[in-house]
Amino acid sequence: MPAMAYIGRFAPSPSGPLHAGSLVAAVASYLDARAHQGTWLIRIEDIDEVRTAPGAAQDIIATLRAFGMEADGEIVWQSRRKELYQAAFDRLAAHAYPCGCNRREIADSRLGLAADGAALYPGVCRDGVPPGRPARSLRVRVPEPGQDLIVFTDRLSGEMRQQLAAESGDFVLRRADGYWAYQLAVVVDDALQGITDVVRGADLLDSTPRQVYLQHLLGYPTPRYLHVPVLRSATGEKLSKQTGALSIAPGNAVAAVEALLVAAHFLGLPMQRAQSVDAFWKAAIDDWAELLDLRGV
Ligand code: GLU
Repeated sequence: MPAMAYIGRFAPSPSGPLHAGSLVAAVASYLDARAHQGTWLIRIEDIDEVRTAPGAAQDIIATLRAFGMEADGEIVWQSRRKELYQAAFDRLAAHAYPCGCNRREIADSRLGLAADGAALYPGVCRDGVPPGRPARSLRVRVPEPGQDLIVFTDRLSGEMRQQLAAESGDFVLRRADGYWAYQLAVVVDDALQGITDVVRGADLLDSTPRQVYLQHLLGYPTPRYLHVPVLRSATGEKLSKQTGALSIAPGNAVAAVEALLVAAHFLGLPMQRAQSVDAFWKAAIDDWAELLDLRGV
């Protein structure tokens, strides 16, 4: 494969330690970057300080290191980049408006569900917050139906289409609690870090059209996307700290190789065993490059 300017990233939310599910996303992004002789970065997505667990980010970084995944540049922390999100918001402020609605009111409007399962916003505050109501959040206006189609290509799933008005609705950029929303922060960071390739879990496929829309509004390029399958528990739930997924203790090389092999196997690599973490990566990177060639991605 020819060398190219590839910059990828793993962007964990430190709501808990790395688990087998988030390890799959980490391994996929790392393999893809290495198979392209690219750069691989770590971004700690701790913008949602309510969900951030103390020490979880350090724990994730230490686990990644024990698993042989070291960032090629300085680790970026979203909690330290608020002025960048504010500056980006200021640039698209003409497309945004304050909203006074709370979750209950939005759910009660029964407009249906957005692609990500959240209640669709009925547009009550589009033309101004009703008198006597304080503004709570900031929302971005999506285009009118008919002009709201977002199309992007996923390297695995192919062409993806979403009609933003019906499937997303006007979405939140700054939350009622004052924190910038993931959708804005991720778009700003991917652009400012020069990310060319986003490799992450398929649970974010539904979010991508909103991110592509914000990229258009901000004049940012759209990276290539590869959404990999999400490892689920035996009962079909997405693994998370909440669903009781085990965290992986660093410092145990045999356990590290075992966990890496589980992730690699889940991603479709043929590997059965490896003698060490280094040996694992050497073989897995070759296998990944071959898999990409086979699938034409
Ligand atoms: N922080 C997100 C998560 O852990 C991932 C965001 C992304 O990769 O764009 O689910």
